[in-house]
Amino acid sequence: MKKTITLVAALLTLVACSNRPAKQQTPDLNTFPYMVEEFADLGLLRYRVPGFEDLSVQQKALVYYLNEAALWGRDILFDQNGRYNLRIRRTCEKLYLGYQGDRTSADWQGFETYLKRVWFSNGIHHHYAEDKFLPACSEQWFRQACAETGIDLSDELVSVIFDPAVMAKKVNAADGEDLILTSACNYYDGLTQQEAEAWYNAHKDNSAEPKWIGLNSKLVKNADGEIVERVFKAEDDGLYHEALQHVVENLEKALQYAENDQQRLVIQKLIDFNRTGDLTTFNEYAIAWVRDLDSRVDFVNGFTEVYGDPLGITGAWEAMTNFKDMEATERTKKMSDNAQWFEDNSPIDPAFKKKECKGVSAKVITAAILAGDCYPSTPIGINLPNANWIRKSYGSKSVTIANLTEAYNQASLGNGFNEEFLLSDTEREIARKYGAHMSDVHVDLHECLGHGSGQLMPGVSKDALREHASTIEECRADLFSLYYMADPKLVELGIAPDMEAYKAQYYQQMMNGAMTQLSRVELGKNIEESHMRNRQLIANWVLDHADTENPEVEIIEKDGKHYMCIHNYEGLRRLYGELLAIIQRITSTGDYEAGKELVEAYAVKVNPELHKEILARYQPLNIPPYKGFVNPVYTPVFDQDGNIEDVLLDYTESYTDQHLRYSRDYSPLPDINN
Ligand code: ZN
Repeated sequence: MKKTITLVAALLTLVACSNRPAKQQTPDLNTFPYMVEEFADLGLLRYRVPGFEDLSVQQKALVYYLNEAALWGRDILFDQNGRYNLRIRRTCEKLYLGYQGDRTSADWQGFETYLKRVWFSNGIHHHYAEDKFLPACSEQWFRQACAETGIDLSDELVSVIFDPAVMAKKVNAADGEDLILTSACNYYDGLTQQEAEAWYNAHKDNSAEPKWIGLNSKLVKNADGEIVERVFKAEDDGLYHEALQHVVENLEKALQYAENDQQRLVIQKLIDFNRTGDLTTFNEYAIAWVRDLDSRVDFVNGFTEVYGDPLGITGAWEAMTNFKDMEATERTKKMSDNAQWFEDNSPIDPAFKKKECKGVSAKVITAAILAGDCYPSTPIGINLPNANWIRKSYGSKSVTIANLTEAYNQASLGNGFNEEFLLSDTEREIARKYGAHMSDVHVDLHECLGHGSGQLMPGVSKDALREHASTIEECRADLFSLYYMADPKLVELGIAPDMEAYKAQYYQQMMNGAMTQLSRVELGKNIEESHMRNRQLIANWVLDHADTENPEVEIIEKDGKHYMCIHNYEGLRRLYGELLAIIQRITSTGDYEAGKELVEAYAVKVNPELHKEILARYQPLNIPPYKGFVNPVYTPVFDQDGNIEDVLLDYTESYTDQHLRYSRDYSPLPDINN
């Protein structure tokens, strides 16, 4: 008997050995460790890359080399954000790695936090507020620690790090000051704002298909007082060529794995542009990129957003590789394929319904790597290109990044928020089970169907609601979504898992709209932002119109705290439907007065007592206001001929290890770049 078992076991081992290793699986949503660490006002998260294992080997190899091309640009952004940033980062990393003294002292901890913040901001200024942050260690300790570790330190560098008056703001936007001289960012050297503007005016391209002059260059005044344009390019005389050569090299490798001719064209044009810096080539690249709609894999890599330049001209270097989320894109397709059914069955006056309704199919993507200006802090959507004439003639690509939203949602489950603000375990369980998925469904219904539903009466202007137009419009899209979220049709279409799921979003909407979003408003202030106004308008209107005897929903008090309490979810749906009919009438007829009345009654003013309570309950949760990400690590597996046969993902790298590795393996620029 025993022998047989051994034999079977041996056979199984044999079978297992002769097979390729089992396919790597995406970690489970519910047990994945999203939270990495928190420091200062920052929280670091991991994100999963679901579906990567199902890509073809060719697509995985493509993603891999695009990722490499993304990581090689990291130094560029540090330098763009400030001319001493690379030196400061490297000095601090040397100290971090080499320091032999006490690593438990308050000074050490203050220094460590400072280095982590420098990594997060890609420099010494806060990524959002743009002010310089100071180390929480003393200058004396820092000097001493560097000396003990054998690190040369100039007084100049110490003052850039420790003197609050030196390079105080990354991008100054204050009216009346010289924005270039008062900004610490590194897009201009030796010029005044006036000189830079004059240069741009003299070199402006006024053609129908203009080149974006200045997108990829730095203006420098040379020893003779002449203004020289230093172009970012891989050719040897280009600024940042040391990094861009590596970007190009990896784009060339990626090119071999392109999925189709259009994508091949995109990558080739980007290679050419990076080599020469030629802006006509950049336009050709941008157009090819907009037209590449069929590829599964897509990417951004280069000088893109211009917020970092006080004059709004030169692009900060950023990169992101991504691939289409087939399941989510399928979900939005189901919605838009059924757009007419939703329109016909909506609870609004038939006169305001579109006779022919076309839904929009949204593209949902999965991010594979974040880099440059997309890392660690990142946008959750992409809408490019930025050149208006290309958008007008060729369109643009707009996507939402589902796996990053997922990470935000899942990480928030463990931060104590639900324990503090949700009424009971019943609501918490529904939120845990359905919250993330139904908030995606909510966004999709809002974008794919909500905004496109309904019609204006003949002669009614789009701008009739004036300053309240965007609040009312967001209400309309949200209500359309909320109304249909509870419809059996969603279950029938396979968009919602069952008839319980919508409750997660209903509770979330009411609690957030009437209560918890106030945590983002300063005490004594009104609500200004139109999405926030929209959410409060809906919640407060519903509370005001709930049944007086048997309210469908109400705010109740328990142990001195207030909670949202939903007694009757079907009844709440009916109220959402009623408000949708009213909002649609206001929109369709352009009834400015009625719109204004609704906004003023429900959307703007804040209940001061409730506001105070929310802030007091929110504060001890210590939820960091800003979040960023740690990337997964991609490791290629090569066959005997040196071809990639798989790419494996690892999610375990720490925040510190990741940055130290990037600085070690992807850091080709000199300390100071001129
Ligand atoms: Zn909207």
